[in-house]
Amino acid sequence: MGLSRQVIESLPKIELHRHLDGDIKPDLIFELAKEQNIKLPVDNKKDLNRYFSKKREEGFNSLITDGFGLVNTVLQTGEALRRAAYESVRNMKNENIIYGELRFAPELHTEKGLSYKQAIYEARMGMKEAEKDFGISTNLISCICRNSSAELGEQIAKTVMDSQMYTVALDLACDEANNPPEKHKKAYELTFNTDIKRTVHAGELGNNQYQNMVTAINTLHADRISHAIHISEYKDLINIVREKNIGIEMSPKSNIYCKFIKSTKDLNITKLIKENVLVSINSDDPAMFEYTLCDTLYEVANDYNLEIGSLKQLQLNAIQMAFTNNKIKEKLRRIITDTYK
Ligand SMILES: [Zn+2]
Repeated sequence: MGLSRQVIESLPKIELHRHLDGDIKPDLIFELAKEQNIKLPVDNKKDLNRYFSKKREEGFNSLITDGFGLVNTVLQTGEALRRAAYESVRNMKNENIIYGELRFAPELHTEKGLSYKQAIYEARMGMKEAEKDFGISTNLISCICRNSSAELGEQIAKTVMDSQMYTVALDLACDEANNPPEKHKKAYELTFNTDIKRTVHAGELGNNQYQNMVTAINTLHADRISHAIHISEYKDLINIVREKNIGIEMSPKSNIYCKFIKSTKDLNITKLIKENVLVSINSDDPAMFEYTLCDTLYEVANDYNLEIGSLKQLQLNAIQMAFTNNKIKEKLRRIITDTYK
């Protein structure tokens, strides 16, 4: 094995898929709860981690409703959202991430009266403050919870269109098994031929993963697909994403924790690299699952016995896929090329 953990830790990295509510460390959860007089079902870090693992064991929907639900109870004010977004960018900085995209679902932060627009604004302001303090570049993606109605999805898409200074893309997240992408077709259509980019969680769970990936591409015009766990098994899909330059945001450790795969090897990452698929490696929910992007890349490098060249390719892919401008991409490319030797 050529690449040590230390080397991977020290290298600059790109993160394209990280959920804000999956990146709040326990200390901050308790701090925010205390400040807002919110009673949580647990009162220490050990029990909190046990609670999250229990929810994970119960299944994906328990994890979403109760696991992420717990985190979101403390993220219902502008100040809390700002602070959490700031801290998430600090987490990225600590992992040597030089460009990071953070995503969140505005509809999950309105219990105390925040509008979708305010939620987006506050999260972005926290990130902007952290950008200044930590010298890293970031962008915010806004998710529709696919469990919500198509009408609500459209409202989120409209808000995103009205908030282009603060958020760059639309995502579709949560329970794929019972909510196929076409449910939110109208919401996605609102963003066609605009500057708003599109990513879709598809091919993560449920019985229609292949069809959902196809729909994400053909009907929702996805610029990127999140997860696409089994894409390497479908030659036609490989050809389509390569031809259309559709990026694949993989999050191997998240898939392992959620029991969708057993090992990173199940994703056939080297096959995808060889086939010139734009694939990148991401963390998804690092604080909730207690790992970092570095842990994820290290596991992938180890499982596939990757050389530095392949790791560099994954970073260059992420830059090409990133929802940012060419000037920033050029700068990022230079940093990666200068350091991955
Ligand atoms: Zn995700």
